[in-house]
Amino acid sequence: MTEFDIAIIGGGPAGATLARLLDEKFRVVLIDGKTDNENSFRKCCGGLLSPDAQKAFAEFDLTLPKDLLVDPQIFSVRTIDLQARKERHYQRFYMNLDRHKFDLWLESLVPENVERFYGRCKKIERLDNLYSLICTGNDGVEKSFTAKKIVGADGANSIVRKYLYPEKKIRRYTAIQQWFREENAKPFYSCIFDPATSDCCSWSISKDNVFIYGGAFEPKDCRMMFEIQKQRLSDYGFKFGEILKTEACVILRPKSPFDICTGKNNAFLIGEAAGLISPSSLEGISFAVNSARILAEVLNSDNSSADKVYEMKIVPMRIKIFAKVLKCPFMYVPALRKIVMKSGLNTIKITKRN
Ligand SMILES: Cc1cc2nc3c(=O)[nH]c(=O)nc-3n(C[C@H](O)[C@H](O)[C@H](O)COP(=O)(O)OP(=O)(O)OC[C@H]3O[C@@H](n4cnc5c(N)ncnc54)[C@H](O)[C@@H]3O)c2cc1C
Repeated sequence: MTEFDIAIIGGGPAGATLARLLDEKFRVVLIDGKTDNENSFRKCCGGLLSPDAQKAFAEFDLTLPKDLLVDPQIFSVRTIDLQARKERHYQRFYMNLDRHKFDLWLESLVPENVERFYGRCKKIERLDNLYSLICTGNDGVEKSFTAKKIVGADGANSIVRKYLYPEKKIRRYTAIQQWFREENAKPFYSCIFDPATSDCCSWSISKDNVFIYGGAFEPKDCRMMFEIQKQRLSDYGFKFGEILKTEACVILRPKSPFDICTGKNNAFLIGEAAGLISPSSLEGISFAVNSARILAEVLNSDNSSADKVYEMKIVPMRIKIFAKVLKCPFMYVPALRKIVMKSGLNTIKITKRN
């Protein structure tokens, strides 16, 4: 059995960033099944890079290759309250990306000294001071590893989080996205509030002549609510062309900063596995990348109480999540949202040719 200093489970933005930043003195394995193969796992995501995520990359002195971008780049969000039939436009500074290419690019930056295992971790066990991981490769072959430290970077449905905190629950939604051949007159980005079908939000985004429509729904009856919402949006004027793809996954939505778990006993959580995602906008890439940077700094410094130090260094991110929890009622309580939208605060006026 191969023994590692650190095993990272999950190679999304959090895991790939950590693997890139860990000191080469460590023997590290990165476990993730994602490849550039057509049938490979692809993260279900809106693929919008927020200003916070852009800042994180600026702080790494990294520039983004242009082939990660998709057409068009969009400067505003059309915010729709479907129930109140109110619409407002707000300026936005997102970059519109191909999320799968973005993930593969991040993985391509992982240095060669990090060993790769293409597959999934199925089981975790603690043996004295070591963790044992049982994994299944993409080729179906089972492999076991041991590691002194493990890092759960395995997203919303984290096996590491379930292993470490079996009792602790965090609010979960089912995110559903459907890809359509673009039939709308003009590409646009929208954010939709429709309390009749979800107490969270939905969105649409155009990417390279594909219209992507998605939303986060309570797991019970999620598919039915998605279809009802689509019908309500068709009545509102959205055009849903030929369906090209349907995808779904779990998305976390913390209700409190105490929903965030950073790990214990030399097992750590980063990114969405830790519960680090905005409960207001569902933006998670910046949290994934920044938590990975913080954990890398802690692990590289060989601190004997790394668990505690990491937990402390995550406090500003907890506070940020708390600020977003406080913002939620102004976005999600219909009466408050109505006031905010009516006030016109921060809105932009769209000028069109008659
Ligand atoms: C529909 C949707 C739209 C979103 N849109 C945006 C957006 O536009 N902008 C934004 O900033 N955020 C968005 N988010 C949130 C964002 O996608 C996540 O918060 C972010 O990807 C978290 O990064 P991560 O690295 O923590 O986890 P992930 O990106 O989920 O990566 C986890 C990785 O772990 C791997 N993995 C999982 N389990 C195992 C296992 N057992 N063994 C091995 N590997 C495993 C997976 O294959 C995956 O590669 C969206 C989320 C959803 C669901």
